[in-house]
Order: sequence, then structure tokens, then C-alpha cells
Amino acid sequence: MLRVGIVGLPNVGKSSLFNALTAAGVPSENFPFCTVDPNVGTVEVPDPRLDHLHELVGSKRKVPTFIHFVDIAGLVAGASQGEGLGNRFLSHIREVDAIAHVLRCFEDPNVTHVAGSVDPVRDRDIVETELVLADLESIERRRERLTKKARSGEKEAQRELALVERVHAVLADGRPARLVEVEPEERTLLKQLQLLTAKPVLYVLNVAEGDLPQGRNRWTEAVEAALGSDGLERTVPVSSRVESELADLDPADRAEFLEGLGIEERGLDRLVREAYALLDLLTFFTSGEQESRAWTVRRGAKAPEAAGQIHSDFERGFIRAETIHYDEFVGIGSMKKAREEGRIRSEGKEYLVQDGDIMLFRFNV
Ligand code: GDP
Repeated sequence: MLRVGIVGLPNVGKSSLFNALTAAGVPSENFPFCTVDPNVGTVEVPDPRLDHLHELVGSKRKVPTFIHFVDIAGLVAGASQGEGLGNRFLSHIREVDAIAHVLRCFEDPNVTHVAGSVDPVRDRDIVETELVLADLESIERRRERLTKKARSGEKEAQRELALVERVHAVLADGRPARLVEVEPEERTLLKQLQLLTAKPVLYVLNVAEGDLPQGRNRWTEAVEAALGSDGLERTVPVSSRVESELADLDPADRAEFLEGLGIEERGLDRLVREAYALLDLLTFFTSGEQESRAWTVRRGAKAPEAAGQIHSDFERGFIRAETIHYDEFVGIGSMKKAREEGRIRSEGKEYLVQDGDIMLFRFNV
């Protein structure tokens, strides 16, 4: 399941955001297979298509797809040297798929800024430098081990070493590992290196309530201007304070509160959507009498991989996927009718799953 780690300097609004996520989220007893961890908040990925599908099909249950947010407290300058909570911080962050980096883009004389003034571009550099240093240390250890193996003629080690040298050069230059150019066949290798700065980043721009309708101010603009254009960094404006207030309201009062602020949806929903987009994921559905359910798979996945999200047997014994796209299905209204009209396609192993596909997997194990 998808995990996004929340990082940022102290007093930028991480806890407020995380509290909003847990208050809005799914109680952990709904995840019997996960250990209860106070540092993890789990939220639904909102998807009106699932609601509609569930209604049309009249299934008993509706099961959305989820994202876990992990509160990674304790980043201070010097974290890479293992100061304070540093090491625990670093081991948590290695396990996440993406990073949500909260940047303070609001002024408030009552809230101390650890670095003395509001400057999200500098804050971003402070945090990123720590991550780069931590990666540099781990890549140097890896390089040492690989060099010995490569000398003794191990082909695998030689190939990995070539990548490690390139990663090292980028890190030594103070830049994140996500900027390393990799061949498609090196992608898995890079992933195995578990580098912090290879993960995609979503900058959560924490703005004052009054800046919410536009979603921008001079600080957010400075951050935008400083970002790379590689698609592995995105931004989303939120107000942590507003989100934590929203989380305490009844759903009925929420709409009114949002309207009063001049915004259409709450920041958490946008945050989830942006995390999804950042990771290049898509949603497909399964639907029947028992349940209508949303599933997540990476963009570019073929039908068997999607089947594997449900059960590894489905992938191993994959025969075909009976498929119809949500948009087409909505016009027809029932699976029975879609079947009668011959609108359900039979797709094989090479089929590229599309966002919004409704799929029924045929398998044999
Ligand atoms: P953390 O240290 O990054 O976890 O930050 P917190 O969430 O604890 O927030 C630090 C302080 O900033 C708290 O007093 C919050 O109420 C305040 N704060 C958080 N977000 C906002 C905001 O959008 N506007 C203002 N004015 N204060 C905020």
C-alpha cells in the first residue's frame, strides 16, 4: 500500500496537517493486518466514479483505495549525522514511496520560525541538504562494497557500480538523486538503493487562511520558481490550520465552512490527488453484487499486474480480463446489459490498464 512521509522543519505546520489527516482518516482497526502506529494516518482516495458505480451496480459494500501518511518527526539540521531523532527519522523515510514536504508560507508573529524568518526556499534547501548528505553516506558505503566485487569480475556488481558512480557524482554536487538520468533497465537498481532523494516530492505549501482562494502568495511563488521541471516535484497549497479545523466539523457543516473561505474542496482531498498524480498511479475498479472497489496500480501496468493487486494467484494464473471502461459503462448502466450488447472486451496479458477500467479477472491456478 502507498505510503507518503510528511517531513519539514519544526513549526511549519506538520502536526496540524497530520492531525487533520488522522481525524479525517480511517480508524486503524479497519486495517487488521497493519500494526497500529500513531505515526500513520490513513485516508481514502476520494473518487466520485466509485460512488456512482456502487450505486448503479447496487453492490453491498463500497471499498475505496487508501493512502497512508507517515508523520516523520524530528528532522533538524544535522540529522544525517544522527543528531537527536535523526537516525530513526532516516530509517522511517526510507520506507515511503513519496515525500510530502511541508513548507511554511505564512507569517505569524506568534509562531516562532526556527531559522528566524519566513523563507520556504531556504527551508527547502536545509531539509534537502540533510537528505542529500544522508544519501551520500549510504552510497559511499555501497560503492566501497561494490568496488571489491567489481574488481573480482562480477558482472552484476560492475553494472551497479556504474550507476552508483553516476548517483555519487550528482549527490556530491549537492543535488538530489532523482535528477540522475537512468536507463529503463536501471530503474529497479536505483530503487533498491533506497535513496531518500530519489523519491518524488510533493511540496505542501502551508499558506494563511486568507491566501487560500488564490492558493498563492509571494512565498509560494518563490518556491514554484525554484523547482525543477522534471515532474518529480509538485506543489499543493493547503492551510494546515484550516484543515485541522475542518476535520473537527460535521460533514454537513464542512461545505458551509469551505464556502465561507471561498474554496471548493478541502486541501486534504487535493493533497491526496496530487500524491496520486506524482506517483503516476491509476485507479481501476472491480464491481459485483458483493462489493464495488477501487484499486491502485502504477501507470503502464499490464492486466496481470493489476490482477496481482487483488491476489498473487490472480497474477500467476492470469488468463484474461473482461473489461469495460467506466465512462462507457455509465452510459449502459448494468453489467448484464453491457454483456448482452457485447460491450465487454476480453483483454489478454499484454493489455495496458487504463485509468477508470472496470475489470473482472479470469484465472486458473
Ligand atoms: P510542526 O512543528 O511543523 O508540526 O508545526 P505545528 O503543526 O505544530 O504548527 C506550529 C504552530 O504553527 C502551531 O501553533 C500552529 O497552530 C501554527 N500554524 C500551523 N499552520 C498554520 C497556519 O496556516 N497559519 C497560522 N497562522 N498558524 C499556523
